[in-house]
Amino acid sequence: MATHYDVIVVGGGHAGTEAAAAAARMGASTLLVTHRRDTIGTMSCNPAIGGLGKGHLVREIDALDGVMARAADRGGIQFRMLNRKKGPAVWGPRTQADRGLYKAAVQDILTEYPHLSIAEGGVVALNRVGSEINGVVLESGELVLANAVVLTTGTFLKGLIHIGDRRTPAGRAGEAPSLGLSDDLAALGLKLGRLKTGTPARLDGRTIAWDRLEMQEADEVPRPFSFMTDRIETRQISCGITRTTAETHRIIRENIHRSAMYSGQIEGIGPRYCPSIEDKINRFGDREGHQVFLEPEGLDDDTVYPNGISTSLPEDVQEAMIRSIPGLEQVQIRQFGYAIEYDFVDPTQLDLSLAVKSAKGLYLAGQINGTTGYEEAGAQGLVAGINAALFASAREPVHFSRTDSYIGVMIDDLTTRGVTEPYRMFTSRAEYRLSLRADNADMRLTPKGMKIGCVGAARAARFLSYSQKRTTLSLQLENLTASPKEMEAAGISVNQDGRRRTAAEVLSYPDRSWDDICRLWPALVAVEAPIAEAVRIDALYAVYLERQATDIARVTSEEARIIPADFDFDSISGLSNELKLKLTRQRPNNIAQAARIEGMTPAAVALLITLLRKSV
Ligand code: FAD
Repeated sequence: MATHYDVIVVGGGHAGTEAAAAAARMGASTLLVTHRRDTIGTMSCNPAIGGLGKGHLVREIDALDGVMARAADRGGIQFRMLNRKKGPAVWGPRTQADRGLYKAAVQDILTEYPHLSIAEGGVVALNRVGSEINGVVLESGELVLANAVVLTTGTFLKGLIHIGDRRTPAGRAGEAPSLGLSDDLAALGLKLGRLKTGTPARLDGRTIAWDRLEMQEADEVPRPFSFMTDRIETRQISCGITRTTAETHRIIRENIHRSAMYSGQIEGIGPRYCPSIEDKINRFGDREGHQVFLEPEGLDDDTVYPNGISTSLPEDVQEAMIRSIPGLEQVQIRQFGYAIEYDFVDPTQLDLSLAVKSAKGLYLAGQINGTTGYEEAGAQGLVAGINAALFASAREPVHFSRTDSYIGVMIDDLTTRGVTEPYRMFTSRAEYRLSLRADNADMRLTPKGMKIGCVGAARAARFLSYSQKRTTLSLQLENLTASPKEMEAAGISVNQDGRRRTAAEVLSYPDRSWDDICRLWPALVAVEAPIAEAVRIDALYAVYLERQATDIARVTSEEARIIPADFDFDSISGLSNELKLKLTRQRPNNIAQAARIEGMTPAAVALLITLLRKSV
């Protein structure tokens, strides 16, 4: 290990992996320091990648040449496109993953980066000169210097595991917590909070009565996450579905006072959208029973993850509760469920590049910023890694916008609004979701990534060829036209008004398929399926996108009005003291961010714009 790097990344979870890989892709000499090399890429909770909103993040990480999608393609054992009944804008690509294969894929991909070194060890402190961070101190006492440091310590900061009334300091099951760093962050003047999350028990699949369960299959043709994957080679499996019963609910209700979450032991706030089974019974009632997906954790691993029943009840209650569920009457438990509380840093103290505003050279990404989920962590890691590398070489930061990506939506939400509970991505958070689709992530972000320098040569070449074919086809579809009579003859019903329609127009109805237009223009049969599909979806959304374009242009121009980091909000006369305080505290990066602060009126925004113009 050298004694100086451009970038040091602390933590080899999902955020750390992407941060280290991104910094290395940018050409920065990068050190990833993590407790254990063999836990890099570990899925702490559910063995799955993607889902609603989360799948978009994975596609965006991939478009910027990140690791997660490629690893998911190698480890994915049940690919399913969620939300298919709705429009393609909100489809959610998801796969269950073989934990071992996924982790091996991540570790293998990280060996591809020549600028990346990996060291095992715990970081106990940040090294600083004034408020500038210039390295880390390891448990061994060794000091390693760097131009920028990215912290991605997940649930480890003062982590405390709860099972019933038993409490164990831990980062996650079986791993020690990280204690010194929280105090260091507090000493920098950062505001920390406490959150919690939970996980269910793990079951021995050989003791489940699978023949009595409803089974859910993978999609017939698994669709890869990564633009770089041609097809999924891994065997696909089914998972089982069962439900909690009246007996399950009785056991939980009678013992709820023994749950760590309800006995008053836990102060942290949990994820509302990923509730424990105790929460579900308490908040949503129990008449219908709650669905439980029994997800095998691997092809050669008979451990099963019961998705939907995370809990912090004591072990005897967990056992009785689980055995009251159909198919699980004889089940053996391999590891009990638990809740974990940990420190997080209020993310409003970060700017849009995920740099800590008050400590130069320090970046934070992942669960440490109050988010939950591998995908949210990975996406932040990527942004922090890119920006740490830019900072290390004295280049300007790169920001993502609500108008270009879910990544931009998440970072804007975190840094402008902060979190009151673990933040999770949803498609409903993205106001421009018709243009921010999973299917067009490459078109939206790969050119930006190429400009930034985080996209490798192989992807860039493949992308350029793809986008050229796509653009040519779109133009072709604008130029091909058919009369209503020709359309009728091809079996496409249309108003017989004599008006010729372009191929793009013919495709712009949800019930039209590529086969329909191939009947009119047979040469189109030769178009590669992924390109045909992409262009069909573009045609479907064309009208809405035109309408959205004006909004996007306005936001983009507001984002271009940068507020200097030392701007004196206090000096603005005509602004309420409350607003001055909020602006001073949150220090928005630009007018778009300032406009989203609660209480900002159009008049206040106009005033700010006028003063900014004067101050430049
Ligand atoms: P992690 O994946 O936790 O990785 C942190 C890494 O940093 C680890 O490798 C650790 O060894 C290393 N590290 C920590 N401190 C130091 C240090 N001082 N020095 C060196 N290395 C260090 N997500 C969901 O979406 N849904 C859920 O239901 C859900 N439930 C969860 C339940 C539990 C019990 C846990 C632990 C997590 C759960 N998650 C859930 C969250 C998901 O696992 C995380 O959001 C995700 O892993 C966060 O990624 P990360 O990279 O920020 O941190």
